[in-house]
Amino acid sequence: MIRLSKSNITRKDINSVVKVLQKEYLGMGENVKIFEDKLKLFFKRPVVCVSSGTSALQLALQAIGVKKGDEVIVPSLTYVATFQAIKACHATPVAADINLNDLNFSLDDIKIKITKKTKCIIPVHYAGSVGNLSSLLILAKKTGIRIIEDAAHSFGTVYKNNLIGSFGDISCFSFDGIKNITAGEGGCVVTKDKKVINYIKDARVLGIKNESIKRYKNQKGIYPKVEIQGWRYHMSNIMAALGASQLDRIKKISKIRQSLAMYYQNNLKKNPNIILLDHDYRHIVPHIFVIRLKNFNEQKRNKVIKILKTKKIETGLHWYPNHLLKFFSSKKFFFLKNTELVFNEIITLPLHLDLKKIEIDYIICSLNFALKKIN
Ligand SMILES: *Cc1c(COP(=O)(O)O)cnc(C)c1O
Repeated sequence: MIRLSKSNITRKDINSVVKVLQKEYLGMGENVKIFEDKLKLFFKRPVVCVSSGTSALQLALQAIGVKKGDEVIVPSLTYVATFQAIKACHATPVAADINLNDLNFSLDDIKIKITKKTKCIIPVHYAGSVGNLSSLLILAKKTGIRIIEDAAHSFGTVYKNNLIGSFGDISCFSFDGIKNITAGEGGCVVTKDKKVINYIKDARVLGIKNESIKRYKNQKGIYPKVEIQGWRYHMSNIMAALGASQLDRIKKISKIRQSLAMYYQNNLKKNPNIILLDHDYRHIVPHIFVIRLKNFNEQKRNKVIKILKTKKIETGLHWYPNHLLKFFSSKKFFFLKNTELVFNEIITLPLHLDLKKIEIDYIICSLNFALKKIN
């Protein structure tokens, strides 16, 4: 089976984790501080590590004061995690539409959906691309609305000569097993807003004030001071050691991902049945490779997935629109034209560090076979 995505673990990664195991201090400790310091050097901004990308989003929302009655605008085309993080703060996710060219947020639709209750907008960096992020940041400055980037897909992506995470308001990354770099699981929040960083440092360890500082020294506080709602959302030393080791080879990881995506693009661009996304892989570090099947519907697309499976090719679907899921549906949700159109057409092809160009040739050949059979 050609896998859709997978982790890539080197001997050095393994040795870093083994070292933590041998020290027998597995929870949150000095390795988390080391990983955070490395990330801080990378982004040139303060970083706080947490247990997942989802908890990064939830804690960032909590840190800026998002609560019951507030609205958070978010593209419907995202992982369930983004919507659940908003719900976890008892706020209302307001689903926005996307642009067809890159499947990133539609600024026009976001503008329509801003109300007095809008506290935050979460752009989702689809497949690693970021869309018209600078215009969104300008809009945010004008309106006073906070921006939390769901940057789970865009670790390493550069936008207008700046690394994602190194500018803007708040950026949240995921280190789950298949993301651009992994810590097994995990995530981080990056922002120059020290208040947000310090709030999350407490909130991730059950709201215990200054507990993070003690943990960095492999210690625990004796008299806890608790004044806010906290969670057990910290990162462990095991995770941090793996994450730090992966971060050391981000340049190499980025190059391979970019070159595989460009190879797909070059070999698919003349295909009349396929619409490529407008993503420039000289700057984007892709997490997934998504194409649109021209004039398809859901059933025909699902048939393609089935045929590729018989050819031992695993594919994905990113994602089922969240505004159509029962838990998130509300009167606030409108018909989202582009989201509902592209949902019928999208399919995600394999992309991971161990994928070979000869396998991409085989995937494209099999895809053409499937399209011929169906059309
Ligand atoms: C992976 C992902 C998340 C959540 O990250 P986890 O680490 O899995 O919790 C959030 N948003 C998007 C778009 C993702 O792909």
